[in-house]
Amino acid sequence: MTGSHTQVRTRFAPSPTGFLHIGGARTALYAWAFARHHGGTFILRIEDTDVERSTPEAVQAILDGMRWLGLQPDEGPFYQMRRMDRYREVIAQMLQAGTAYRCWCSREELDAMRAAQEARGEKPRYDGRWRPEAGRTLPQPPSGVAPVIRFRNPRDGVVAWDDLVKGPIEIANAELDDLIIARSDGTPTYNFCVVVDDWDMRISHVIRGDDHVNNTPRQINILAALGATLPRYGHVPMIHGPDGQKLSKRHGAVSVMQYQADGYLPEAVINYLARLGWSHGDAEVFSREQFVAWFDGAHISRSPARFDFDKLRWLNNHHIKATEDAALAAEVAPRLRDHGIADPDASGVDLAAVCGLLKERCGTLEELAESAMMFFLAPHGISDALQAALSAPAVGALRDFVAAAESVPWNREALAGLIRQSVTAHGLKMPQFGLPARLLLFGRPQTPALEAVLSLLPREEAIRRLRAGLAPA
Ligand code: GLU
Repeated sequence: MTGSHTQVRTRFAPSPTGFLHIGGARTALYAWAFARHHGGTFILRIEDTDVERSTPEAVQAILDGMRWLGLQPDEGPFYQMRRMDRYREVIAQMLQAGTAYRCWCSREELDAMRAAQEARGEKPRYDGRWRPEAGRTLPQPPSGVAPVIRFRNPRDGVVAWDDLVKGPIEIANAELDDLIIARSDGTPTYNFCVVVDDWDMRISHVIRGDDHVNNTPRQINILAALGATLPRYGHVPMIHGPDGQKLSKRHGAVSVMQYQADGYLPEAVINYLARLGWSHGDAEVFSREQFVAWFDGAHISRSPARFDFDKLRWLNNHHIKATEDAALAAEVAPRLRDHGIADPDASGVDLAAVCGLLKERCGTLEELAESAMMFFLAPHGISDALQAALSAPAVGALRDFVAAAESVPWNREALAGLIRQSVTAHGLKMPQFGLPARLLLFGRPQTPALEAVLSLLPREEAIRRLRAGLAPA
């Protein structure tokens, strides 16, 4: 290893082939939080060299997802496709230095090589026939064939690194081929671009999914050949679905933006993803700031995490409860519009207060919007349940209530007094009044305390709704 980095610089390096999924978001979060924890720099790099599969829409989806989660990069986005000249430059330098070489093997030769090795029961690998060695004469390059460029991987010894997550890992160089770093058309290959970028961007810590563990020894060898300061690597295990299989579309929402649509708060998703494969004592509900303060790269689990939708909902409820009512109202208003309430402000209902009252039980903003709907949409028709609940004494009590409601101060306390009075005067038990009142007012049998919901419905509207369901005296 050549020295070590003094500045913490991390990166998130997605390939833009689809939306930002939950696994990618967690990788981004860990890299971001690690940089924040150390007062370092978080870099976004778009690995778009797979031109067939990369799309501008996917780039946008990644940027949107990161913005929604609040994981803004300090540098970037950098696009690999815009760095081709740089990769070519480094390849030229490596050819010059002898750490890379041209290989003229044709597809047919490679196939024959593989077949022969397999027939001998050996692991298929490039046999190094174009690899320059001291005292060795190489074949004459065939004419009219464009060569690939291979990295001259060390033959002996081991590549070892102390993985932040997995601990010490060691691979014998004998296991590694001379990797192709540029194709015959001159385009650099994936592992090579990653190496040049990590080097140029002075990445100190590579935090990524453990599907990349196999790339790491190759990348380390190339970095070492370039004389680069090596980053530290941390490979985070995959996320599995509740059934233990690799997380996929089959398990429901895997795009981060789907969680926004479903009514999850970014703070809750951050909290959830943070805990998905990492722990800090028994802390479950915490803020982004707390996570940053705690996340030093230790305590990342070595085994795959299991996605648990119920836990995410539970956390979301906690974060909804901790959110200011006005901020919730701002999130809920557009959802009410989606439900057909053109102008929630025009109704005279204090949406923030409604959110404050209802948030206790809501797992998502969408549920909050759905339960807030009862303030904006009067029930229509008389259901069987209402019919059954409207006993003669209940009707009498409700009529008394309506009559007095015209003049009672429209607040919880006064309304509670009036409810009690109407109930007692007609010899009822509370539910015998509460049930028909709720059905008349909100079309549902259950709500928070009647005086609380009533006080948030404008007086005129409450009286109108009660009268609409009570036959005239
Ligand atoms: N582009 C790779 C991916 O999307 C990540 C490469 C890396 O982090 O080194 O999986």
